[in-house]
Amino acid sequence: MNTAQIAINGYGTIGKRIASAVELQPDMQVCGVAKTSPDYEANAARANGYPLYVASERSVEAFGEAGIDVAGTVEALIEACDVVVDATPSGVGKRYKARYDAADTPAIFQGGEAPEVAEQSFNARSNFEDCAGADSLRVVSCNTTGLTRFLSPLKEAYGIEKVRATLVRRGGDPSQSDRGPINDILPDPVSIPSHHGPDVQTVFPDLDIDTMGLKVPSTRMHVHTINVTLSEEPALRAITDQLSGESRLFVVPARLGTNGCGTLHEFAREMGRSRGDLYENCIWGESLALNGRDLYCYQAIHQESDVVPENIDAIRAITESASATESRALTDEALGIGILESVARMDRTETMLAD
Ligand code: NAD
Repeated sequence: MNTAQIAINGYGTIGKRIASAVELQPDMQVCGVAKTSPDYEANAARANGYPLYVASERSVEAFGEAGIDVAGTVEALIEACDVVVDATPSGVGKRYKARYDAADTPAIFQGGEAPEVAEQSFNARSNFEDCAGADSLRVVSCNTTGLTRFLSPLKEAYGIEKVRATLVRRGGDPSQSDRGPINDILPDPVSIPSHHGPDVQTVFPDLDIDTMGLKVPSTRMHVHTINVTLSEEPALRAITDQLSGESRLFVVPARLGTNGCGTLHEFAREMGRSRGDLYENCIWGESLALNGRDLYCYQAIHQESDVVPENIDAIRAITESASATESRALTDEALGIGILESVARMDRTETMLAD
């Protein structure tokens, strides 16, 4: 098995998680990470053993003054790698695009970039095969990843007539002390529908979907309220089984007592998840309800980590080094995806035996 050399440009919330996830895979490794400022994340990158590259010659000096060794500028990193994963802040990725193209280096962008930045928008469960061999891909945002993952199996099994979703979004990530609201509930965007529906359509062009968004004073997760009008009318049990069979959908049983995002996070930490990450959509099992062909539920999305397995699969799609099924299985195994579901199932089996 060839070991693909992966560059991570931007070592922040998303970039650092992708770097850790790459290191856990059998077929790829991090050849370097790039940063602009010699801050705590740059120190952490060095402490984690990654060769550190900087955005410009000017930065080399600043890093030197801060006593942080650098391996070179980002240009050298782009030249040296097989694939670059761009995890720079929203809008910065498009400024790098010409440099990736000039070096003929396949690039993976994040959801903060406009869809036009890449050849195709990507979700591993929804359109891996369509993206195989592309020169550039854009892993859709955390919210769009959560929605496309949830909708894919329903679309395949029953067909979808219409989707309506409200996205209650965290105000900022834990490190973003300058974001809010501090004490408010903001319709965001206030115009309806929100941009999230069109973003889902970059993966499913023909899907009829309307979305609305709010922002709340939390750093934990996003929560979606979803209504899907299916083309058929299956039994609720069949739907629950179908969703539970998806490795990146965790249908959370009521017995776990995870009544919100705090307890979900605590469970992830207890299960030894790095950084308390929840790669899976967390769908509250009790919320799954069916009224005719209308399916309803709540799901929680960990904005800092649900796109991480998708980036790993995007690397294999772009390098055509595995099929969709093989790649998702490799990624899941390496990241321990499925462990939360299996713990929940183990409890259920024991309860049934006790009954
Ligand atoms: P971040 O601000 O946490 O990290 C960005 C990193 O890029 C920092 O390390 C910063 O030093 C570095 N950087 C800044 N300018 C740079 C430059 N010119 N060259 C190289 N490095 C530079 O951002 P993030 O939250 O990790 O977001 C990265 C991307 O992922 C964005 O497109 C964002 O929309 C998307 N995304 C974010 C989240 C989330 O919740 N944080 C979820 C999904 C997708």
